[in-house]
Amino acid sequence: MPRYADDSREKVREATDIVDLVGSRTDLRRSGPTRFTGTCPFHEDRSPSFGIDVDKGVYHCFGCGAGGDIFTFVQETENVDFVGALEYLAQRYGVELQVADEDPKAAERRQRHERLLALLERATQFYERWLWDAGDGAVARDYLSGRGLREETLRAFRVGYAPEGWETLRGAAHRQGFTDEELIAAGLARRSPKRPDSAYDFFRNQVMFPVSDRRGRVLGFAARKLDGPGQETLAKWINTAENDVFHKGEIVYGEHLAKSSAAKAGEVILVEGYVDVLTLHQGGIENVVCTMGTSLTEKQVGQLAKLAPRLLLALDADEAGQKGMLRAEPIARGKGVQLRVVPLPEGMDPDELTLERGIEAMWEAVGRSVPFVRFRVDSILDRADLSTAEGKDEAIAELAPVFEAVPPSALREELLEVVSSRLDLQPALVSSWLPAPGAVPAPATAAGRQRFQRDEPEPSQVAAHALPPVVAAERDLLIACVASPDAGEAVLRTLSADRFSSAGAWRVAEYLRDNLRDPARGLPPDDGRLASAVAGIVADASDLDQPPAKQAIEAQLVSIAIASLDRDIEAARHSENGGIAGLRRRRDELVDQRDALITEALEQGG
Ligand code: ZN
Repeated sequence: MPRYADDSREKVREATDIVDLVGSRTDLRRSGPTRFTGTCPFHEDRSPSFGIDVDKGVYHCFGCGAGGDIFTFVQETENVDFVGALEYLAQRYGVELQVADEDPKAAERRQRHERLLALLERATQFYERWLWDAGDGAVARDYLSGRGLREETLRAFRVGYAPEGWETLRGAAHRQGFTDEELIAAGLARRSPKRPDSAYDFFRNQVMFPVSDRRGRVLGFAARKLDGPGQETLAKWINTAENDVFHKGEIVYGEHLAKSSAAKAGEVILVEGYVDVLTLHQGGIENVVCTMGTSLTEKQVGQLAKLAPRLLLALDADEAGQKGMLRAEPIARGKGVQLRVVPLPEGMDPDELTLERGIEAMWEAVGRSVPFVRFRVDSILDRADLSTAEGKDEAIAELAPVFEAVPPSALREELLEVVSSRLDLQPALVSSWLPAPGAVPAPATAAGRQRFQRDEPEPSQVAAHALPPVVAAERDLLIACVASPDAGEAVLRTLSADRFSSAGAWRVAEYLRDNLRDPARGLPPDDGRLASAVAGIVADASDLDQPPAKQAIEAQLVSIAIASLDRDIEAARHSENGGIAGLRRRRDELVDQRDALITEALEQGG
């Protein structure tokens, strides 16, 4: 990836017309001197909940919480990373990007990497042409249409056909100036065992599924062998072998085409096969991906966590699929991904279900997804022998560690009900046998978070844009500081992390402290949550009729201290140590102090 000069970002920002850029995705109406509003391009929006602030260079949606600057906007709408967004905008608004000086070794590596990617892109085009234009491609086209795949879907996924013959791709690549060494490095050819100075095509008579990164750049291929005479016993699928470009364990197939709908839906569906991905996508379920025939790795879960906060597993309802789901759980837990399971009919994969009963059956299955823990409880009960007392006891013993991880909640009650009804035992009895977690979550945090929810959208709409937990008092203070940067800067300098309810809230405050004059300027390119939180605060600040007086900001500051005391009081109520009276006295003093400040501010303003 080229490294551009440090000032590239600023040059591109200067040149970009945000009204033109955003206006190409949604109709905008002027609603203030520097404000435009429209319907949100990121969620199904009937009322215009979306707006941009031209002066600050940010966009924000009050419905789904999407927000950020020109770069995040392009990243979201064009499915590219930060550098991709930079290049897109540079091209669109006529900025010439300067490549930064880099050390010769790094430059060499980058050039080699780019050359291999260029070769893979050429190979993809080559295979596409063979599928659509050559007589030989007919057998592959028949195979694909036999699986119910239409041309537009195949073209979107750039499916192709590798012809019979040992040197067809090799010959074409040589004519374009690529060497055998490069073909081998990209996984497209193999060295001849008999003639070490020669090579032959690795993929022959195969349907080719290009495997791309998030930006849609082809890194390798998954290939489906077409049955020749006597070949029925060969393995059906082969992948590009591991090489410098292609790392199987880090790739999620279909990611570049799933990205925007996954962000919109707040969830991404993981299936087992490439054809499952294409079939579902064709039926309008576009937030779907698969792994490369391996069980889920931590890197892949990390990739998926960037796509959406919820991961729906729609793995085959056979034993291998079930085991795969059990293995995925501990990995997802560590990444903050909410795991759900899509119930598929016994012995069917998504492709078979769709072919047999239509895409509606798959939509319905996705709609009936259950939390992962419900899936575990069901699968233990399904396997158990519930006709004998011993069988029931064994099931209870197996369920105990599962329940140990489920805190008191509506979900836990529901699970207990399922168990007691399946076991035909008294609910109270079952509940007394299945242990609750040792630690109950601190109620102070939960209370604080609830108070933050003002115009919180429906949970289903809270996508990857979900704001960090900034409680109401903290948010109001930050809004006031943005609206009144002179006073705000001084106030923010007096604050430290311990005054905030969470690390996320402090991150937002710290960022604004350092970028208060121009909040969109320094947004880190890979932190969508920070970008949307900042954009939301900037939008609210622009909505204020006038900048708040210094005393009003100081009053907000006291409010934060009160909110922090409230958390201490809440914690003290649940602890043995007491000391609550002192905290309450301090709280009363602070409330008086705040009232005095508000009175002063009102007198000044009026
Ligand atoms: Zn929205």
